[in-house]
Amino acid sequence: MIKTLVVFGTRPEGIKMAPLVNKLKTNKNFEVKVCITGQHKEMLDSVLEIFKIKEDYNLDVFEHGQSVVDIQIKTMKGLDNIFKKEKFDIVLVHGDTIATSSASQVAFLNKILVGHVEAGLRSHNINSPFPEEGNRKVTGVLSGLHFAPTKGNVKNLNKENIVENIFITGNTVIDALKYVIDDSDFEDKFLKEYDFRNNKTILLTCHRRENWGKPMENIFNGIKDVVKNNRKVHVIYPIHLNPNIRVVAKKILGGEDRVHLIEPLDYKPFANLINRVDIIVTDSGGIQEEAPALGKPVLVVREETERPEAVEAGTVKVIGINKDDIIKEVNYLVRDEEEYKKMSKAVNPYGEGKACEKIMESIENYFKIKNS
Ligand code: UDP
Repeated sequence: MIKTLVVFGTRPEGIKMAPLVNKLKTNKNFEVKVCITGQHKEMLDSVLEIFKIKEDYNLDVFEHGQSVVDIQIKTMKGLDNIFKKEKFDIVLVHGDTIATSSASQVAFLNKILVGHVEAGLRSHNINSPFPEEGNRKVTGVLSGLHFAPTKGNVKNLNKENIVENIFITGNTVIDALKYVIDDSDFEDKFLKEYDFRNNKTILLTCHRRENWGKPMENIFNGIKDVVKNNRKVHVIYPIHLNPNIRVVAKKILGGEDRVHLIEPLDYKPFANLINRVDIIVTDSGGIQEEAPALGKPVLVVREETERPEAVEAGTVKVIGINKDDIIKEVNYLVRDEEEYKKMSKAVNPYGEGKACEKIMESIENYFKIKNS
């Protein structure tokens, strides 16, 4: 029996780890427990509900106004207490959050093997995204098993002298998508009645810390200009709960007829919304992986991406945070049918939704060899 603890804190981590938890639970060689940090409690709860997962531990770290250091300290202490009570063979962490780096450090200090899901993503700029790039690197150093979505991610690890026990798996987000995409109607009244067929719909999401302030104003003003100058364009923007973002979004985009500011959506309607719109404009990481799998072009409002595979494949384009560039690039994709076809037909580089199975098999093989 491989005693496994899966740790995560935020909604995007939950989305990408939930299908893995459920896959491992189908295998009698694993005993699986789930620990959530409580960092995004409200948004994560709905993900757990969708995937029918009940956590075994909740570190309850959330408090208004606390710093990332506070979160890290509480997460580390909480996990250390768990490891004192219960022995695990492996701790699985995901991606690049404070939960990820904290859990890998505490597991390492307790001499527990760390398995890093979504390993090897790098922007190569330690300050952007902050603190995620640092979190990824720390976790890479401390992990014993690395589950890399793509070959490019493996190369990034190799450059940091991480060469053993790396497995190319694809991204678990495709497994998650397969679970939630269906052709059922939206429950939300606005989305249910919205005319996807006759409008050209842009789905906007924007929340990243490095875009707060001027970049975010540029993005919203750019989008506003595109809407004013393209009669058929509508924008749907599920605004993040963060008040810093909501105030700016409402100030700049609030009065526009064809801009629909809606509340954040649960994962299932959100994924189905990606599947129904025409174009995505986003600063999110996960959406850069989901949208290509659904044949939707993505324009990334950031200065770089740690997901160059989709850019190389031609389905994602990084358009920066300058207002004029945003207007030019969004207008181009809205108006040029050839460009639209080209981007929407590009092949998704993140696999076919078998990532969880591959991760499970890699862990099993690792322990078989180790124990033989
Ligand atoms: N998402 C969601 N509802 C929303 C907006 C996003 O469920 O209203 C999902 C989205 O499908 C993706 C994840 O949240 O899987 C992305 O989260 P986010 O952009 O917050 O983080 P990142 O991927 O940049 O770490």
